[in-house]
Amino acid sequence: MEEKRVFSRLIRENTVKIVATLGPASDSKKMLKELLSVGVDVFRLNFSHGTHDEKRALVERIREVDEYVGILADIQGPKIRVGNFKDDKAYNLNVGQEVKVYEKDIIGDQDQFSIPLVGFLNTVSRGDAFFVNDGIIKIQVKKKERDHIIGEVMAGGIISNRKGVNIPKGTLSQRVPTEKDIKDLELIAELNPEYVAISFVSSGADVLHVKRILENYGNSDIKLISKIERPIALDNFDDILEVSDGIMVARGDLGVEISPDQVPVHQKEMIKKCNREGKPVIVATQMLESMINAPIPTRAEANDVFNAVIDGTDAIMLSAETAVGNYPINAVQYMNKIAYTATQNMPKRKPDEYDSDRLIHTQVLGHAIHSLTTEMEDLNFRGKILVLTRGGFGARMIAKYRPPLPIIAITPHKRTSREMNLLWAVQPIHIEDIDFFHLDAEAIIEQSVKYAVDLGVIDENEHVVILLVSRKWKKRGNLVGFYYVGEILKSDAEETS
Ligand code: PEP
Repeated sequence: MEEKRVFSRLIRENTVKIVATLGPASDSKKMLKELLSVGVDVFRLNFSHGTHDEKRALVERIREVDEYVGILADIQGPKIRVGNFKDDKAYNLNVGQEVKVYEKDIIGDQDQFSIPLVGFLNTVSRGDAFFVNDGIIKIQVKKKERDHIIGEVMAGGIISNRKGVNIPKGTLSQRVPTEKDIKDLELIAELNPEYVAISFVSSGADVLHVKRILENYGNSDIKLISKIERPIALDNFDDILEVSDGIMVARGDLGVEISPDQVPVHQKEMIKKCNREGKPVIVATQMLESMINAPIPTRAEANDVFNAVIDGTDAIMLSAETAVGNYPINAVQYMNKIAYTATQNMPKRKPDEYDSDRLIHTQVLGHAIHSLTTEMEDLNFRGKILVLTRGGFGARMIAKYRPPLPIIAITPHKRTSREMNLLWAVQPIHIEDIDFFHLDAEAIIEQSVKYAVDLGVIDENEHVVILLVSRKWKKRGNLVGFYYVGEILKSDAEETS
């Protein structure tokens, strides 16, 4: 075998994928390598911070370190922020104190600050509350004046330059994508990551808008992940999911915009809907928050990661823990360990609950492969699932049923291989020289199995369940086979001897 033509990332036992946000604590070449070695599958680039030159250089560094890791570019969206404060100082707002909040940009202090966004004053009414600094500070509107509101601090905390603001009842909707996002999308179209995460999506139309912008910039390959972080996105979730390639449960902002006790309810529901459609879902934010400053997680955080896996998420995400934290490697290691334990304890999936209502041909086979491999497991057959896929669809239709055997996805396309890093339990392998279009089914099976054995992902005493697209009837023709690897290798040896 010509080794250079076969590419595979680290073979992992864990089924749940890990997304790590990069920042000053993690974006050096050395740290990228270390993060990969402990199990990161996808790197997230946060476009709320840094310059275009920095992002360009970072993507180059990532690709130099690992050509096959996934990259997700996260655009900021209409994040509302407070203005700046006197001498760039931080102020402590105390419960019960009154503050004046202006729409015009002023320099803030202990008694006043600005939310410099056109329409702010119109969007809030007397009695409404809004939040600053990730929901820590709560301010209730007492009175509206001509150019400011007078608010009472209901929950206190530190306020400083550019802290984020959430106005749950507000109808302030800067467009998604914003002007900044559109500039960032131009660069993203050029950098060509596998995924873009769209912040503050409110409808399917927002997602299509981003898609069109990327297309206008000449890129129709990048897959779109919608971040669900506003009540309106929950209302329009089905609509959003239909036109998105995946979903991020963005609990940071969502947990401010809706009551925190409601977040787990929606997390479970969104995961289930994504699983049903076979679209990847990422659970994000505060998963191991205390590890920003500590080398071990709290018991509650371990439970959170564990339960997200049990809920059925494809991927779990680290934000500040890896971007600016003191223990980025420990955070990934713990996340991996907890996810692994959760995977071992996952209840068996009832496949009927995961059939999409849409009439998808390959889904029937995904369902059947779940039943087949469950039967294999019951009868003590050792083995793997091998899916030969061009765009990753077959892999998604198998993974969504969470079958009991590992899924190895062989693709002739590098891009597909990178994208599949986000899919539950899918081990992507890129093989350039399998001619999916011209070889007959048995020749493709023989070649793929041989490659997989040489790579060490399948061994000769195992069975394989194989899914591939029919060469002749490509649109709705698939072949499913059940083989003993040793026999395939033997036939290969017999023919070539
Ligand atoms: C979130 O709000 O949970 C989130 C992932 O968004 P960001 O970190 O970009 O604010």
